[in-house]
Amino acid sequence: MRLWRFNGGLPSLAEHKNESVNFPIETAPVPPLLVYPLGQHIGNAAKPLVSTGDKVLRGQKIADAQGLISAPIHAGSSGVVTNIADHLIPHPSGFSAPSISIETDGLDEEITYVPHDDFRQLSTSELVDIIREAGIVGLGGAAFPTAIKLNTQNKALHIDTLILNGAECEPYISCDDRLLKERPHLVIEGIEILLHMIRAKRAILAIEDNVPDTFKSIQDAIAKNNNPAITAVQIPTIYPTGGEKQLIQTLTGKEVPSGEIPADIGIVSTNVGTVHAVQRAVIEGKPLTSRIITVTGEGVKKPHNLEVRIGTPIQTLIDVCHGYTKHAERLIMGGPMMGFALLNDEIPIVKATNCILVASKEEAITEKQAMPCIRCGLCASACPVSLLPQQLYWFSKSEQLEKAEALNLFDCIECGCCDVVCPSHIPLVQHFRYAKSALKVQNHDKHLSDVARDRFEAREERIARDKAERAERSRKKKAALKSKPAKEEIDAAVSRAKAKKQKPTENET
Ligand code: SF4
Ligand code: SF4
Repeated sequence: MRLWRFNGGLPSLAEHKNESVNFPIETAPVPPLLVYPLGQHIGNAAKPLVSTGDKVLRGQKIADAQGLISAPIHAGSSGVVTNIADHLIPHPSGFSAPSISIETDGLDEEITYVPHDDFRQLSTSELVDIIREAGIVGLGGAAFPTAIKLNTQNKALHIDTLILNGAECEPYISCDDRLLKERPHLVIEGIEILLHMIRAKRAILAIEDNVPDTFKSIQDAIAKNNNPAITAVQIPTIYPTGGEKQLIQTLTGKEVPSGEIPADIGIVSTNVGTVHAVQRAVIEGKPLTSRIITVTGEGVKKPHNLEVRIGTPIQTLIDVCHGYTKHAERLIMGGPMMGFALLNDEIPIVKATNCILVASKEEAITEKQAMPCIRCGLCASACPVSLLPQQLYWFSKSEQLEKAEALNLFDCIECGCCDVVCPSHIPLVQHFRYAKSALKVQNHDKHLSDVARDRFEAREERIARDKAERAERSRKKKAALKSKPAKEEIDAAVSRAKAKKQKPTENET
Protein backbone atom coordinates (compact mmCIF):
# COMPACT_ATOMS: atom_id res chain seq x y z
CA MET A 1 0.00 0.00 0.00
CA ARG A 2 1.32 3.43 -0.93
CA LEU A 3 2.21 5.70 2.01
CA TRP A 4 2.66 9.48 2.15
CA ARG A 5 4.95 11.63 4.29
CA PHE A 6 3.62 14.50 6.40
CA ASN A 7 5.66 17.66 6.87
CA GLY A 8 8.31 17.85 9.60
CA GLY A 9 8.24 15.53 12.59
CA LEU A 10 11.11 13.89 14.44
CA PRO A 11 12.33 10.59 12.93
CA SER A 12 14.95 9.83 15.53
CA LEU A 13 13.37 10.38 18.92
CA ALA A 14 14.68 8.00 21.61
CA GLU A 15 11.86 5.48 22.17
CA HIS A 16 12.29 4.12 25.70
CA LYS A 17 9.59 1.49 25.12
CA ASN A 18 11.60 -1.54 26.20
CA GLU A 19 11.37 -0.58 29.86
CA SER A 20 7.67 -1.52 29.92
CA VAL A 21 6.73 -3.32 26.72
CA ASN A 22 8.26 -6.71 27.48
CA PHE A 23 5.97 -7.55 30.40
CA PRO A 24 2.43 -8.89 29.99
CA ILE A 25 -0.50 -6.70 31.08
CA GLU A 26 -1.24 -7.15 34.78
CA THR A 27 -4.47 -6.26 36.53
CA ALA A 28 -4.09 -3.57 39.19
CA PRO A 29 -5.87 -4.28 42.50
CA VAL A 30 -9.08 -2.55 43.60
CA PRO A 31 -7.98 0.47 45.67
CA PRO A 32 -9.71 1.40 48.96
CA LEU A 33 -10.97 4.62 47.35
CA LEU A 34 -12.04 5.30 43.76
CA VAL A 35 -12.41 8.91 42.66
CA TYR A 36 -14.34 9.98 39.55
CA PRO A 37 -13.98 13.57 38.29
CA LEU A 38 -17.29 14.43 36.61
CA GLY A 39 -15.59 16.23 33.72
CA GLN A 40 -13.19 13.61 32.39
CA HIS A 41 -14.21 13.88 28.74
CA ILE A 42 -14.61 16.59 26.11
CA GLY A 43 -17.93 18.39 26.58
CA ASN A 44 -20.24 18.94 29.52
CA ALA A 45 -19.38 17.36 32.87
CA ALA A 46 -21.55 14.37 33.82
CA LYS A 47 -24.38 14.84 36.33
CA PRO A 48 -24.29 12.68 39.51
CA LEU A 49 -27.01 10.03 39.79
CA VAL A 50 -25.96 8.99 43.31
CA SER A 51 -25.83 10.67 46.72
CA THR A 52 -23.50 10.34 49.67
CA GLY A 53 -24.22 7.09 51.50
CA ASP A 54 -25.56 5.24 48.42
CA LYS A 55 -24.34 1.69 47.88
CA VAL A 56 -23.11 1.06 44.33
CA LEU A 57 -22.06 -1.96 42.28
CA ARG A 58 -19.34 -2.33 39.68
CA GLY A 59 -20.69 -1.24 36.30
CA GLN A 60 -23.45 0.88 37.83
CA LYS A 61 -23.95 4.28 36.20
CA ILE A 62 -23.09 6.86 38.85
CA ALA A 63 -23.23 9.99 36.68
CA ASP A 64 -25.12 10.63 33.47
CA ALA A 65 -24.21 12.55 30.34
CA GLN A 66 -25.45 16.13 30.24
CA GLY A 67 -26.26 17.37 26.77
CA LEU A 68 -25.13 16.02 23.43
CA ILE A 69 -21.35 16.19 23.96
CA SER A 70 -20.82 14.41 27.26
CA ALA A 71 -20.46 10.86 28.61
CA PRO A 72 -21.77 8.89 31.59
CA ILE A 73 -19.47 7.50 34.27
CA HIS A 74 -19.71 4.05 35.88
CA ALA A 75 -18.45 2.68 39.19
CA GLY A 76 -15.32 0.52 38.92
CA SER A 77 -16.12 -1.62 41.96
CA SER A 78 -18.79 -2.09 44.62
CA GLY A 79 -18.84 0.14 47.69
CA VAL A 80 -20.38 3.24 49.20
CA VAL A 81 -20.40 6.80 47.89
CA THR A 82 -18.57 8.78 50.57
CA ASN A 83 -18.27 12.19 48.98
CA ILE A 84 -19.37 14.30 46.06
CA ALA A 85 -17.10 17.32 46.23
CA ASP A 86 -14.03 18.94 44.68
CA HIS A 87 -10.98 16.70 44.36
CA LEU A 88 -7.62 17.21 42.63
CA ILE A 89 -7.95 16.29 38.96
CA PRO A 90 -5.30 15.39 36.38
CA HIS A 91 -4.95 18.73 34.60
CA PRO A 92 -1.98 21.01 33.83
CA SER A 93 -3.63 23.72 35.95
CA GLY A 94 -3.45 21.61 39.12
CA PHE A 95 -7.12 22.46 39.78
CA SER A 96 -9.68 20.55 41.81
CA ALA A 97 -13.09 19.81 40.31
CA PRO A 98 -16.35 18.09 41.36
CA SER A 99 -15.79 14.35 41.75
CA ILE A 100 -17.59 11.30 43.16
CA SER A 101 -15.62 9.28 45.72
CA ILE A 102 -16.46 5.62 46.39
CA GLU A 103 -15.08 3.68 49.35
CA THR A 104 -14.78 0.16 47.99
CA ASP A 105 -16.04 -2.82 50.06
CA GLY A 106 -13.67 -5.48 48.70
CA LEU A 107 -16.56 -7.59 47.36
CA ASP A 108 -16.36 -6.23 43.81
CA GLU A 109 -20.02 -7.09 43.17
CA GLU A 110 -21.23 -6.31 39.66
CA ILE A 111 -24.49 -5.37 38.01
CA THR A 112 -25.98 -7.84 35.51
CA TYR A 113 -24.68 -7.04 32.04
CA VAL A 114 -26.64 -7.46 28.81
CA PRO A 115 -24.32 -9.09 26.23
CA HIS A 116 -24.95 -9.10 22.45
CA ASP A 117 -23.47 -12.16 20.79
CA ASP A 118 -24.36 -11.10 17.28
CA PHE A 119 -23.73 -7.39 16.73
CA ARG A 120 -24.86 -7.74 13.10
CA GLN A 121 -28.44 -8.02 14.34
CA LEU A 122 -28.17 -4.51 15.79
CA SER A 123 -28.77 -1.31 13.85
CA THR A 124 -26.31 1.58 13.83
CA SER A 125 -28.51 3.62 16.17
CA GLU A 126 -28.80 0.68 18.61
CA LEU A 127 -25.01 0.33 18.62
CA VAL A 128 -24.55 4.09 19.04
CA ASP A 129 -26.85 3.91 22.09
CA ILE A 130 -24.87 1.01 23.59
CA ILE A 131 -21.56 2.85 23.11
CA ARG A 132 -22.99 6.10 24.52
CA GLU A 133 -24.46 4.31 27.56
CA ALA A 134 -21.15 2.52 28.13
CA GLY A 135 -19.46 5.92 28.59
CA ILE A 136 -16.80 5.25 25.94
CA VAL A 137 -14.58 8.16 24.93
CA GLY A 138 -11.39 8.31 22.85
CA LEU A 139 -8.79 6.43 24.89
CA GLY A 140 -5.84 7.73 22.88
CA GLY A 141 -5.93 10.84 25.05
CA ALA A 142 -8.55 13.01 23.34
CA ALA A 143 -11.50 11.72 25.45
CA PHE A 144 -14.03 12.80 22.82
CA PRO A 145 -17.31 10.83 23.24
CA THR A 146 -17.03 7.90 20.80
CA ALA A 147 -20.79 7.58 20.16
CA ILE A 148 -20.80 11.02 18.53
CA LYS A 149 -17.81 10.20 16.35
CA LEU A 150 -19.43 6.97 15.15
CA ASN A 151 -22.89 8.42 14.63
CA THR A 152 -22.17 9.34 11.03
CA GLN A 153 -25.60 8.29 9.69
CA ASN A 154 -27.48 11.27 11.12
CA LYS A 155 -25.07 13.74 9.59
CA ALA A 156 -25.47 12.15 6.14
CA LEU A 157 -21.70 11.77 5.90
CA HIS A 158 -20.36 9.22 3.48
CA ILE A 159 -17.57 7.37 5.24
CA ASP A 160 -15.26 5.46 2.98
CA THR A 161 -12.38 4.53 5.28
CA LEU A 162 -12.03 3.55 8.93
CA ILE A 163 -8.54 4.14 10.33
CA LEU A 164 -7.42 2.35 13.49
CA ASN A 165 -4.61 4.14 15.23
CA GLY A 166 -2.10 1.65 16.60
CA ALA A 167 0.79 4.07 16.08
CA GLU A 168 2.01 4.75 19.56
CA CYS A 169 4.55 7.37 18.56
CA GLU A 170 5.17 9.08 21.90
CA PRO A 171 8.28 7.75 23.70
CA TYR A 172 7.83 5.49 26.77
CA ILE A 173 4.15 4.58 26.12
CA SER A 174 3.50 0.95 25.20
CA CYS A 175 -0.07 0.17 26.39
CA ASP A 176 -1.57 -0.04 22.87
CA ASP A 177 1.32 -2.21 21.76
CA ARG A 178 0.65 -4.69 24.61
CA LEU A 179 -3.06 -4.66 23.81
CA LEU A 180 -2.40 -5.49 20.14
CA LYS A 181 0.06 -8.22 21.13
CA GLU A 182 -2.15 -9.88 23.74
CA ARG A 183 -5.73 -9.30 22.55
CA PRO A 184 -5.54 -8.91 18.76
CA HIS A 185 -8.73 -10.96 18.17
CA LEU A 186 -10.76 -8.62 20.42
CA VAL A 187 -9.46 -5.57 18.56
CA ILE A 188 -10.35 -7.18 15.21
CA GLU A 189 -13.86 -7.99 16.46
CA GLY A 190 -14.16 -4.33 17.58
CA ILE A 191 -13.11 -3.20 14.10
CA GLU A 192 -15.84 -5.39 12.57
CA ILE A 193 -18.42 -3.74 14.84
CA LEU A 194 -17.26 -0.28 13.74
CA LEU A 195 -17.29 -1.29 10.06
CA HIS A 196 -20.85 -2.57 10.48
CA MET A 197 -21.85 0.71 12.14
CA ILE A 198 -20.37 3.26 9.79
CA ARG A 199 -20.65 1.13 6.62
CA ALA A 200 -17.09 1.99 5.56
CA LYS A 201 -15.62 0.02 2.66
CA ARG A 202 -12.28 -0.60 4.32
CA ALA A 203 -10.50 -0.53 7.65
CA ILE A 204 -6.76 0.17 7.91
CA LEU A 205 -4.97 -0.66 11.14
CA ALA A 206 -1.73 1.33 11.32
CA ILE A 207 1.22 0.04 13.33
CA GLU A 208 4.70 1.56 13.43
CA ASP A 209 7.55 -0.41 11.86
CA ASN A 210 9.51 -0.56 15.13
CA VAL A 211 7.21 -3.30 16.52
CA PRO A 212 7.31 -6.14 13.94
CA ASP A 213 6.14 -8.79 16.44
CA THR A 214 2.97 -6.79 17.13
CA PHE A 215 2.37 -6.42 13.42
CA LYS A 216 2.71 -10.20 13.06
CA SER A 217 0.21 -10.93 15.83
CA ILE A 218 -2.33 -8.58 14.22
CA GLN A 219 -1.76 -10.06 10.79
CA ASP A 220 -2.38 -13.55 12.18
CA ALA A 221 -5.62 -12.39 13.80
CA ILE A 222 -6.77 -10.75 10.55
CA ALA A 223 -5.99 -13.94 8.60
CA LYS A 224 -8.00 -15.98 11.10
CA ASN A 225 -10.89 -13.56 10.94
CA ASN A 226 -10.85 -13.62 7.14
CA ASN A 227 -12.52 -10.25 6.59
CA PRO A 228 -11.07 -8.79 3.34
CA ALA A 229 -12.10 -5.25 4.37
CA ILE A 230 -9.52 -5.18 7.19
CA THR A 231 -5.83 -4.53 6.47
CA ALA A 232 -2.87 -3.94 8.76
CA VAL A 233 -0.18 -1.55 7.52
CA GLN A 234 3.29 -0.84 8.85
CA ILE A 235 4.13 2.84 8.83
CA PRO A 236 7.49 4.60 9.40
CA THR A 237 8.31 5.45 13.00
CA ILE A 238 8.30 9.23 12.91
CA TYR A 239 7.01 11.30 15.80
CA PRO A 240 4.10 12.34 15.77
CA THR A 241 2.78 9.88 13.20
CA GLY A 242 0.05 8.86 15.70
CA GLY A 243 -1.49 12.35 15.52
CA GLU A 244 -4.88 11.92 13.86
CA LYS A 245 -4.27 14.24 10.92
CA GLN A 246 -0.69 13.03 10.43
CA LEU A 247 -1.82 9.40 10.37
CA ILE A 248 -4.60 10.13 7.88
CA GLN A 249 -2.12 11.87 5.62
CA THR A 250 0.38 9.02 5.94
CA LEU A 251 -2.19 6.41 4.96
CA THR A 252 -4.34 8.21 2.40
CA GLY A 253 -2.39 11.24 1.21
CA LYS A 254 -5.42 13.35 2.17
CA GLU A 255 -5.12 16.42 4.38
CA VAL A 256 -7.94 17.32 6.76
CA PRO A 257 -8.48 21.05 6.13
CA SER A 258 -8.10 23.47 9.04
CA GLY A 259 -11.31 23.67 11.06
CA GLU A 260 -12.72 20.43 9.60
CA ILE A 261 -12.89 16.89 10.95
CA PRO A 262 -11.82 13.63 9.25
CA ALA A 263 -15.47 12.67 8.59
CA ASP A 264 -15.69 15.71 6.28
CA ILE A 265 -13.27 13.93 3.93
CA GLY A 266 -14.90 10.50 4.35
CA ILE A 267 -12.70 9.12 7.13
CA VAL A 268 -13.34 8.03 10.71
CA SER A 269 -10.29 7.34 12.81
CA THR A 270 -10.08 5.90 16.28
CA ASN A 271 -7.53 4.54 18.70
CA VAL A 272 -7.16 0.76 19.14
CA GLY A 273 -7.86 1.02 22.90
CA THR A 274 -11.20 2.63 22.09
CA VAL A 275 -12.00 -0.18 19.66
CA HIS A 276 -11.28 -2.68 22.44
CA ALA A 277 -13.67 -0.80 24.76
CA VAL A 278 -16.36 -0.86 22.05
CA GLN A 279 -15.95 -4.63 21.65
CA ARG A 280 -16.38 -5.11 25.40
CA ALA A 281 -19.41 -2.82 25.57
CA VAL A 282 -21.22 -4.51 22.67
CA ILE A 283 -20.28 -8.18 22.99
CA GLU A 284 -20.05 -8.42 26.80
CA GLY A 285 -22.40 -5.52 27.60
CA LYS A 286 -19.81 -3.98 29.95
CA PRO A 287 -19.44 -0.22 30.35
CA LEU A 288 -16.02 1.45 30.42
CA THR A 289 -14.71 0.96 33.95
CA SER A 290 -11.08 0.14 33.26
CA ARG A 291 -8.32 0.73 30.73
CA ILE A 292 -4.71 -0.28 30.03
CA ILE A 293 -2.02 2.16 31.20
CA THR A 294 1.75 2.27 30.97
CA VAL A 295 3.46 3.10 34.26
CA THR A 296 7.11 3.73 33.47
CA GLY A 297 10.20 5.89 33.85
CA GLU A 298 13.39 5.73 35.88
CA GLY A 299 11.39 6.81 38.91
CA VAL A 300 9.57 3.45 39.38
CA LYS A 301 11.23 0.19 40.30
CA LYS A 302 9.32 -2.10 37.91
CA PRO A 303 7.69 -0.41 34.90
CA HIS A 304 4.51 -2.18 33.79
CA ASN A 305 1.46 -2.13 31.62
CA LEU A 306 -1.54 -2.45 33.88
CA GLU A 307 -5.27 -2.91 33.41
CA VAL A 308 -6.48 -0.26 35.83
CA ARG A 309 -9.92 0.66 37.12
CA ILE A 310 -10.70 4.24 36.20
CA GLY A 311 -10.73 6.27 39.43
CA THR A 312 -7.71 4.46 40.92
CA PRO A 313 -5.24 6.86 42.60
CA ILE A 314 -1.77 6.88 41.02
CA GLN A 315 -0.27 5.82 44.38
CA THR A 316 -1.88 2.35 44.01
CA LEU A 317 -0.16 1.88 40.63
CA ILE A 318 3.19 2.98 42.00
CA ASP A 319 2.83 0.31 44.70
CA VAL A 320 2.13 -2.33 42.01
CA CYS A 321 5.34 -1.20 40.30
CA HIS A 322 7.23 -1.89 43.55
CA GLY A 323 7.42 1.79 44.54
CA TYR A 324 9.49 4.82 43.62
CA THR A 325 13.22 4.74 43.01
CA LYS A 326 15.54 7.39 44.39
CA HIS A 327 15.55 8.96 40.90
CA ALA A 328 11.85 9.86 40.96
CA GLU A 329 11.72 13.56 40.21
CA ARG A 330 8.45 14.38 38.51
CA LEU A 331 5.06 12.71 37.90
CA ILE A 332 3.84 13.19 34.34
CA MET A 333 0.49 12.12 32.91
CA GLY A 334 1.08 11.10 29.28
CA GLY A 335 4.47 10.90 27.62
CA PRO A 336 7.43 13.28 27.84
CA MET A 337 6.41 15.15 24.67
CA MET A 338 2.72 15.86 25.20
CA GLY A 339 2.19 14.98 28.86
CA PHE A 340 1.88 17.38 31.77
CA ALA A 341 3.20 17.40 35.32
CA LEU A 342 0.94 16.34 38.20
CA LEU A 343 0.90 17.78 41.71
CA ASN A 344 0.87 14.47 43.59
CA ASP A 345 -0.01 10.77 43.41
CA GLU A 346 -3.47 11.09 45.02
CA ILE A 347 -4.77 12.17 41.63
CA PRO A 348 -6.97 9.48 40.04
CA ILE A 349 -6.62 7.77 36.68
CA VAL A 350 -9.24 9.06 34.25
CA LYS A 351 -10.48 7.68 30.94
CA ALA A 352 -7.88 9.70 28.96
CA THR A 353 -4.86 8.51 30.99
CA ASN A 354 -2.64 6.30 28.84
CA CYS A 355 0.62 6.69 30.76
CA ILE A 356 2.06 7.68 34.09
CA LEU A 357 5.69 8.62 33.61
CA VAL A 358 7.65 8.84 36.82
CA ALA A 359 10.51 10.82 35.38
CA SER A 360 14.03 11.20 36.67
CA LYS A 361 15.78 14.55 36.37
CA GLU A 362 17.23 13.50 33.03
CA GLU A 363 13.90 12.22 31.71
CA ALA A 364 11.86 15.23 32.72
CA ILE A 365 12.34 17.79 30.00
CA THR A 366 13.42 20.41 32.46
CA GLU A 367 13.35 24.02 31.46
CA LYS A 368 16.66 25.30 30.23
CA GLN A 369 17.51 28.97 30.19
CA ALA A 370 15.66 30.40 27.16
CA MET A 371 17.63 32.67 24.88
CA PRO A 372 16.45 35.07 22.18
CA CYS A 373 15.08 33.63 18.95
CA ILE A 374 17.75 33.57 16.26
CA ARG A 375 15.21 33.08 13.43
CA CYS A 376 16.84 29.85 12.35
CA GLY A 377 13.53 28.44 11.09
CA LEU A 378 14.16 24.96 12.55
CA CYS A 379 10.82 25.04 14.38
CA ALA A 380 8.91 25.59 11.13
CA SER A 381 10.76 22.74 9.44
CA ALA A 382 9.89 20.38 12.32
CA CYS A 383 6.22 21.35 12.62
CA PRO A 384 4.01 18.48 11.37
CA VAL A 385 1.09 20.87 10.86
CA SER A 386 3.10 23.28 8.70
CA LEU A 387 2.62 26.15 11.14
CA LEU A 388 5.02 29.02 11.75
CA PRO A 389 5.97 28.48 15.41
CA GLN A 390 8.35 31.44 15.46
CA GLN A 391 5.57 33.88 14.48
CA LEU A 392 3.08 32.16 16.76
CA TYR A 393 5.57 32.60 19.58
CA TRP A 394 6.05 36.25 18.80
CA PHE A 395 2.31 37.01 18.69
CA SER A 396 1.58 34.88 21.79
CA LYS A 397 4.33 36.55 23.79
CA SER A 398 3.29 40.05 22.78
CA GLU A 399 -0.39 39.27 23.53
CA GLN A 400 -1.39 39.83 19.91
CA LEU A 401 -3.64 36.85 20.23
CA GLU A 402 -5.92 37.56 17.25
CA LYS A 403 -2.85 37.53 15.01
CA ALA A 404 -1.78 34.19 16.46
CA GLU A 405 -5.31 32.86 15.89
CA ALA A 406 -5.20 34.09 12.28
CA LEU A 407 -2.01 32.00 11.85
CA ASN A 408 -4.01 28.90 12.83
CA LEU A 409 -2.81 28.63 16.40
CA PHE A 410 -5.70 26.27 17.15
CA ASP A 411 -4.33 23.77 14.61
CA CYS A 412 -1.26 23.30 16.84
CA ILE A 413 -1.42 19.77 18.26
CA GLU A 414 1.09 20.63 21.01
CA CYS A 415 3.37 17.84 19.84
CA GLY A 416 6.48 19.61 21.13
CA CYS A 417 8.57 19.05 17.96
CA CYS A 418 9.35 22.78 17.79
CA ASP A 419 10.46 22.78 21.44
CA VAL A 420 12.84 19.90 20.86
CA VAL A 421 14.61 21.45 17.87
CA CYS A 422 14.76 25.04 19.10
CA PRO A 423 18.45 25.90 19.69
CA SER A 424 17.38 28.81 21.90
CA HIS A 425 15.45 26.48 24.26
CA ILE A 426 12.35 28.64 24.01
CA PRO A 427 9.40 26.84 25.65
CA LEU A 428 7.25 27.40 22.58
CA VAL A 429 4.44 24.97 23.49
CA GLN A 430 3.99 26.67 26.88
CA HIS A 431 3.40 29.96 25.07
CA PHE A 432 0.96 28.30 22.65
CA ARG A 433 -1.00 26.66 25.47
CA TYR A 434 -1.23 29.96 27.29
CA ALA A 435 -2.33 31.81 24.13
CA LYS A 436 -4.97 29.17 23.35
CA SER A 437 -6.51 29.35 26.83
CA ALA A 438 -6.40 33.16 26.81
CA LEU A 439 -8.13 33.17 23.41
CA LYS A 440 -10.75 30.71 24.63
CA VAL A 441 -11.48 32.96 27.62
CA GLN A 442 -11.51 36.02 25.35
CA ASN A 443 -13.82 34.33 22.83
CA HIS A 444 -16.04 33.08 25.65
CA ASP A 445 -16.19 36.59 27.15
CA LYS A 446 -16.94 38.01 23.72
CA HIS A 447 -19.69 35.42 23.28
CA LEU A 448 -21.15 36.36 26.67
CA SER A 449 -20.96 40.07 25.87
CA ASP A 450 -22.57 39.43 22.43
CA VAL A 451 -25.36 37.50 24.16
CA ALA A 452 -25.76 40.31 26.73
CA ARG A 453 -25.84 42.92 23.96
CA ASP A 454 -28.42 40.93 21.96
CA ARG A 455 -30.55 40.54 25.08
CA PHE A 456 -30.27 44.26 25.87
CA GLU A 457 -31.26 45.20 22.32
CA ALA A 458 -34.16 42.74 22.37
CA ARG A 459 -35.33 44.22 25.68
CA GLU A 460 -35.12 47.78 24.34
CA GLU A 461 -37.09 46.71 21.27
CA ARG A 462 -39.72 45.02 23.42
CA ILE A 463 -40.10 48.11 25.65
CA ALA A 464 -40.43 50.36 22.60
CA ARG A 465 -42.97 47.98 21.04
CA ASP A 466 -45.02 47.82 24.28
CA LYS A 467 -44.95 51.59 24.53
CA ALA A 468 -46.13 52.01 20.94
CA GLU A 469 -48.89 49.42 21.46
CA ARG A 470 -50.04 51.14 24.64
CA ALA A 471 -50.10 54.51 22.86
CA GLU A 472 -52.10 53.00 20.00
CA ARG A 473 -54.60 51.41 22.39
CA SER A 474 -55.02 54.71 24.22
CA ARG A 475 -55.48 56.60 20.95
CA LYS A 476 -58.12 54.13 19.80
CA LYS A 477 -59.91 54.35 23.11
CA LYS A 478 -60.00 58.13 22.96
CA ALA A 479 -61.25 58.04 19.41
CA ALA A 480 -63.95 55.55 20.36
CA LEU A 481 -64.99 57.74 23.27
CA LYS A 482 -65.13 60.79 21.03
CA SER A 483 -67.35 59.10 18.48
CA LYS A 484 -69.59 57.59 21.18
CA PRO A 485 -72.66 59.80 22.16
CA ALA A 486 -72.76 60.81 25.80
CA LYS A 487 -75.05 58.75 28.07
CA GLU A 488 -77.26 61.75 28.85
CA GLU A 489 -77.69 62.39 25.15
CA ILE A 490 -78.70 58.77 24.60
CA ASP A 491 -81.14 58.86 27.53
CA ALA A 492 -82.70 62.08 26.24
CA ALA A 493 -83.08 60.63 22.75
CA VAL A 494 -84.71 57.51 24.16
CA SER A 495 -87.12 59.60 26.25
CA ARG A 496 -87.99 61.73 23.25
CA ALA A 497 -88.73 58.66 21.18
CA LYS A 498 -90.90 57.17 23.92
CA ALA A 499 -92.85 60.42 24.37
CA LYS A 500 -93.42 60.64 20.66
CA LYS A 501 -94.78 57.15 20.63
CA GLN A 502 -97.19 57.78 23.50
CA LYS A 503 -98.64 61.08 22.02
CA PRO A 504 -101.90 60.19 20.01
CA THR A 505 -101.95 61.32 16.41
CA GLU A 506 -104.64 63.62 15.11
CA ASN A 507 -106.32 60.76 13.20
CA GLU A 508 -106.59 58.68 16.34
CA THR A 509 -108.46 61.40 18.26
S1 SF4 B 1 13.69 27.22 16.39
FE1 SF4 B 1 13.74 28.65 18.11
S2 SF4 B 1 15.37 30.07 17.56
FE2 SF4 B 1 14.87 28.98 15.68
S3 SF4 B 1 13.28 30.28 14.71
FE3 SF4 B 1 12.20 28.81 15.95
S4 SF4 B 1 11.87 29.86 17.87
FE4 SF4 B 1 13.49 30.96 16.82
S1 SF4 C 1 3.81 22.10 19.06
FE1 SF4 C 1 2.46 23.06 17.58
S2 SF4 C 1 3.69 24.58 16.55
FE2 SF4 C 1 5.09 23.20 17.63
S3 SF4 C 1 5.64 21.69 16.11
FE3 SF4 C 1 3.89 20.85 17.21
S4 SF4 C 1 2.11 21.49 16.04
FE4 SF4 C 1 3.83 22.74 15.34
